[in-house]
Amino acid sequence: IGGPAPGGDDATPALREVIVIGSGPAGYTAAVYAARANLAPLVFEGSVTAGGALMNTTEVENFPGFPEGILGPQLMMDMREQAERFGAELVRDDVVEVDLTGPVKRVTDADGTVHEARAVILAMGSAYRELGIPREQELSGHGVSWCATCDGAFFRDQDILVVGGGDSAMEEATFLSRFARSVTVVHRRDELRASSIMAERARSDAKIGFAWNSAVAELHGTPKLSTVTLSDTRTGETREVEATGLFIAIGHDPRNELVRGQVELDPEGYVVVQGRGTATDVPGVFACGDLVDHTYRQAITAAGTGCAAALDAERYLAALD
Ligand code: FAD
Repeated sequence: IGGPAPGGDDATPALREVIVIGSGPAGYTAAVYAARANLAPLVFEGSVTAGGALMNTTEVENFPGFPEGILGPQLMMDMREQAERFGAELVRDDVVEVDLTGPVKRVTDADGTVHEARAVILAMGSAYRELGIPREQELSGHGVSWCATCDGAFFRDQDILVVGGGDSAMEEATFLSRFARSVTVVHRRDELRASSIMAERARSDAKIGFAWNSAVAELHGTPKLSTVTLSDTRTGETREVEATGLFIAIGHDPRNELVRGQVELDPEGYVVVQGRGTATDVPGVFACGDLVDHTYRQAITAAGTGCAAALDAERYLAALD
């Protein structure tokens, strides 16, 4: 089993052991483990965003094994190469449809080809919500960030803005106040959505201030962020503030479109896995990485659960034989 069926391109692909959907740290790590277990995984990497979230960043300083840090895209290319070396088949294509019921799972790619496998690993990640303002993407990794744990240490003694009013914004602000000279929480309304304990923690931090009824309108600075235009959400008046860091904490959307209605999702749309493992409520379907993770959302934790998903799939397949 594994590899394309004999008979040329027109033939239906052979039944696979494992198909991995997603190509971030979770998907590639699952691919390395599944390939080394001789399961010849077929990996759909996605057409536009192959390599996952770290393709959009510069320096990664907290992935173990790289004492000098490593560029995000380089780390992902290395993971890809490692998976390929052990026989994973990597395809820069999107999966557009899945049928996960029954013992043989069906995965349809963007060309309409249906691939079949006895197990599927879901590793589609989650998308950070964006503000949708000009230059946001261009300045990502150059002052604009979505992850304080990842990037906070780059902003020692600097003035930082955190956008959002929920628990994650308060958590990011409190974490960043360890490094920053000042942290200003920019919030559209005049009260926070965050739980009272998180809000109180932020309010009682001397380094944290609040820009109420404010939204980020424009970003300035080349090649790095230097100032930000805030607009008053009631009057539309604008003002400029100096900031070399802007952390956007307005939520995440797990990429669950493919599997909605097929595997159990929690109220926020994350795939539900059972206990400490990666099994979903559908036999033979495993999920890992940021697609299941409310809490940690780090490359190393995504890689860790990717490993677990491949081991869980391997055990599931062994029990079928
Ligand atoms: P992702 O990396 O999101 O990868 C999922 C990928 O799957 C998608 O990008 C896409 O290519 C593919 N995919 C999705 N749907 C489909 C489909 N239908 N068909 C085919 N393919 C599909 N973490 C750290 O530990 N250190 C850092 O320094 C750090 N910096 C970061 C900087 C930025 C700007 C961002 C956005 C995140 C950063 N993170 C960092 C967080 C880290 O990137 C994520 O936690 C991690 O990438 C999650 O891995 P994942 O494999 O679950 O998903």
